[in-house]
This record gives sequence, C-alpha cells and structure tokens, in this order.
Amino acid sequence: KIPFLAVDGGGTKSLCYFFDMHGQIRGQGRSGSCNYQGVGKEAAVRELIHAIRNALEDGKLVGNGEVGETELETDCAALGIAGLDTEYDRRIILALVEEALQYLRIRAKRLIIENDGFAALLGATNGQPGILMIAGTGSIVYGVNDQGVVARAGGWGHRVGDEGSGYWIGKQAIIHILKTMDGRVAPNKLAEHILPYLDLKDPEDLFNWTYNSSYSVEKVAELSSLVSQAHTQGDQVAKSIMIQAAEQLFTCAKAVIERINLYRQPFQIILQGGVLQNNAFVREYVTNQFNTFAPSGQIENKNKEPIYGMMALALDHYQKFHDG
Ligand code: BGC
Repeated sequence: KIPFLAVDGGGTKSLCYFFDMHGQIRGQGRSGSCNYQGVGKEAAVRELIHAIRNALEDGKLVGNGEVGETELETDCAALGIAGLDTEYDRRIILALVEEALQYLRIRAKRLIIENDGFAALLGATNGQPGILMIAGTGSIVYGVNDQGVVARAGGWGHRVGDEGSGYWIGKQAIIHILKTMDGRVAPNKLAEHILPYLDLKDPEDLFNWTYNSSYSVEKVAELSSLVSQAHTQGDQVAKSIMIQAAEQLFTCAKAVIERINLYRQPFQIILQGGVLQNNAFVREYVTNQFNTFAPSGQIENKNKEPIYGMMALALDHYQKFHDG
C-alpha cells in the first residue's frame, strides 16, 4: 500500500508522484500531455497510465510482479488536469482517470480531480489569498481571496482561448508568416526561425503543415521558444507578439483581481508554465504590470513545481477526513 498519489496533468507534460504522509516522494514518473482537449481522450488515458506506471516502476512499488498484476491501494489521489474547465469536462475527465486507475489496478479511497491551475493554486497558497497564472502550452489565471472566494479567467483551450500561452504565441507566429507572404505586413525574420525547426521549405509548406497529421497543439506551442529566440535577436514582430502575450495574460489577472477584490489585501502571485518560467521578457512584463496595477501582490520567486500543490491537496484532504 502506498498512501498518496498526485498527478500534475498539464498541457505540456504529466508528472506523477507516489508519496507518504510526510511528503516523502517514493516514486515519480512522467509522460506527455493528458489534456483531452488537446490530445484526444485515448491519448489522455494513455499518457496518464504512462506517468503513473513510470512512478510505480521508479519507486519499485509493485514488488517483483508486473504493474497491474496485484491491486494497489492509496488513501487519496489528487489530480490537477488541464482541460477541466466545466462540469461537463469534469465528468469526462473523471471517466478517463478511472479508466487509467482501473487498468493499473489502483484503488483510490478518495479521488480529487481539479483543474491544474486551481489545484496548484489551492495547494500553493494554503488558504491564503493568491493568484496563480499558468502560461505553458495552454494558459489560465485563478485567484482566491481571504474569504475563500475563487475566480478564474482565460484558459478556454487552444481553439477559442489560451491567450498568451505557448500555443497562442506559436500560432501568432504562423499567422504572421502567412501575412508576410501575402505582403500584408512588413518583411520580418520569423520564417527563418520557424521553418527550419519544422523542416519546411517555405511559408506555403507551413500552411500545409497546419492541416497535416504531424500538426499538434504541443508542436505549435514549441514554436514559442523560437519566437522568443527571434525576439532576443531583435525581430520586432516577435517582440510585439511577446508584448501582446504578456498583456493578454495580465488582462486575465486584472479581471480576477477585480472580481474577487484582491486590491484591498496582500496576496501572493505564482507564475507557472514554460512561457512564464523560461521567457524572462514576458515574466518581467507581467511582473511590472502587477507592481503597477496591483501593488498589494507579491511575486513568489521560489517557484515550486505545481505538483506540490496537488500533494498538499491530497494530504490536506486526508487530514480533514481523519480529524473527523
Ligand atoms: C486548459 C485549462 C488549463 C490551462 C493551463 C488550457 O488549455 O483549457 O483547463 O488550466 O490550459 O494548463
């Protein structure tokens, strides 16, 4: 028996920890994204199974047998999953998680399933007011105030939302390259960064790529680091995409701050996801916006992995249950 299971199922990767009462990690595993909106339901289950199986194997938690041979029991499993945006999503994701656990023959006495940003926020702030902004493959902002009131903005997936995310940045770059080909915008160097990465010869090929089978949400999101590179080398279009990304992200934060009235109280700000962690320009831009418009917020610089939030949720839930 292994007491606890936590999964951070983001839009870029999934991470799974088995851990004990003291938060001691006993096994960890990784896999690709399990956001069903991005990769589809089948792949989402497969990636969940993959991450959990890797964690079991890493911690040698299955004895000498094969994973799935004997039933394993956990006291509490807490999963933060990207793509859980509505009650409809919750039903779908619950079924996907149950399918993965059943396949691995893991029984969870208690199962907590939340949106990745929401779970990370609750775990990280521990009941204190805070804002959590994710800009990775997808993006979202969650906030909680001193009354425990929660608000969310953005994060409506790659098709109609996720402004400021890696996917959004990558997509803007593609749009710009096509506009450049048309002569709608001034010449710029974006294509020189993007085309070789995808092994394509010209903008028309890039357009074809967006409708062929090697296109994926994650692949488009990967392009964001090339836009960032173009920006560092002085490309002005890349710079303006980055500024728009940062502004879009802060617009979400501002909406949340206003709705739950965080202006009046100190709160912590947690910035997560590849764009906010690896792109110093976007991070700084967003930080300055916070300092200017919401000075009672304090940026948390010692960023823990989001999965620590899910671990805290599992432990907290267990504790409450045991205390009565
Ligand atoms: C998803 C959200 C998720 C966000 C951050 C978006 O694409 O729709 O559910 O919270 O990405 O991972």
